[in-house]
Amino acid sequence: MREGLHRIVSSDETIVAISTPFGRSGIGVIRLSGPAAVSITKSFFKPHSSDRAFEHRNAIVGTWMTLSNETLDEVVVTFFQAPHSYTGEDVVEISAHGNPLILGRIVETTRRGGARIATPGEFTLRAVANGKMDLIQAEAVREFIDAQTEQQARTALRQMEGALSQRIRPVKAQLVDVIAHLEAGIDFAEDDVDVPDNSSIADQIHPLVDQLQTLQETFGYGRILSAGLRIAILGKPNVGKSSLFNRLVASDRAIVTDIPGTTRDVLTETISLDGVPLRLADTAGVRQSKDRVESIGVNRTFETLADADLALVVLDGAGKLDDDDRQVMAKSEGVRHLVVINKKDLPQVMDEKTLNGASRVHVSAATGEGMDELWNAIRRTISDQHTDLSDEFVLTNARQNDAILKAIEGLHRASDALQEKVPHEMVLLDLYQGLSALDELTGESVTDDILDRIFSTFCIGK
Ligand code: GDP
Repeated sequence: MREGLHRIVSSDETIVAISTPFGRSGIGVIRLSGPAAVSITKSFFKPHSSDRAFEHRNAIVGTWMTLSNETLDEVVVTFFQAPHSYTGEDVVEISAHGNPLILGRIVETTRRGGARIATPGEFTLRAVANGKMDLIQAEAVREFIDAQTEQQARTALRQMEGALSQRIRPVKAQLVDVIAHLEAGIDFAEDDVDVPDNSSIADQIHPLVDQLQTLQETFGYGRILSAGLRIAILGKPNVGKSSLFNRLVASDRAIVTDIPGTTRDVLTETISLDGVPLRLADTAGVRQSKDRVESIGVNRTFETLADADLALVVLDGAGKLDDDDRQVMAKSEGVRHLVVINKKDLPQVMDEKTLNGASRVHVSAATGEGMDELWNAIRRTISDQHTDLSDEFVLTNARQNDAILKAIEGLHRASDALQEKVPHEMVLLDLYQGLSALDELTGESVTDDILDRIFSTFCIGK
């Protein structure tokens, strides 16, 4: 069992949970894992034919009984023998009819038989503890179950198969080599062991930093894939923000009116573009206002803008550019933005020369004209985040990203220290920091609160 984890995984307990969603369905699956999985099953399960043995991957049809020998359900029991199971322990899966009442009663019998109800993610936690997968793969299991677009599912599946783990392993092994080399130089300095020179150590560290950085750079795209591209739609009142928002979400959620300043709150909606979630926010119109409620809305608009990956700055092509428009453009300078000149269907009076070089598209939210061009511009924002590696691998998880950044930081510091000819003992501290960040990443050394945080987001029965 992995170090650190055996403290919280008590493998002498057998755990049980319903692994299918609550509600009525054709079948419902109950999973038992632990040393008593088979013996508990045998106390309540009567196979229809007595020659069916509990052998690895054998599915046996029979009846599930209560303690008082009543029939509860006709079930199929499948046995997976340790260590060849999801958790690495003996696992029994009971497929019963998908009636929550019956499933609950079957669970209750197993509990009477000595099993304990599993906590969220506990099956997967055991899989990690027993070396069946690492923490990155465990997180990918949850991401796979939670995936809402095909792209997210594909990425999670690659992680489940070990895409990141396989890339981290050699980096870690090489880092351990560098550390061992330095340690030997310190421990045996008097015994004429070659003390490695600083530039050769730095030469070993730099490629490791490069490899980690290449992985880390995929997070821009990965974050968009998992959390969505945050798009803020902004502009002064009445330029057509809500109409554009509605066009984009293809629904009529926002109130479209021609009284300026009515969208005072921020309205959001998530849609999918080529499998990438877009989180659209329709914001309150920006203009100089003495109305207190309206200025709260304007402030909220700027907060939304600060969090956005892309701002759609909406202007009214049928009107003249004014100070309110200029304020919106000035505020968007710090964020990646696209100028959307709306109301293309009306005679155009805006003088575009004053817009400088900002990239822009012309649309009519009313007729839908120009929307393809807008979609393509949004697609370009997404593909700009693509790195050379993104097709094979993307980092989607903020915890993993933090751990890699921490590792990079440790290695950077070590390499600076080498340049400044700091004693090797000190350089080692930085290298160990890098190593422990990588250990944290894969779960080899990980604190309880991190594990709690990860597994508490799992569903029961996974
Ligand atoms: P917001 O205040 O920026 O959210 O603007 P709205 O979406 O509420 O639109 C303000 C007014 O402009 C409404 O009367 C819309 O019908 C009208 N409008 C919005 N987009 C267009 C457009 O592309 N063409 C025309 N002709 N009118 C539009």
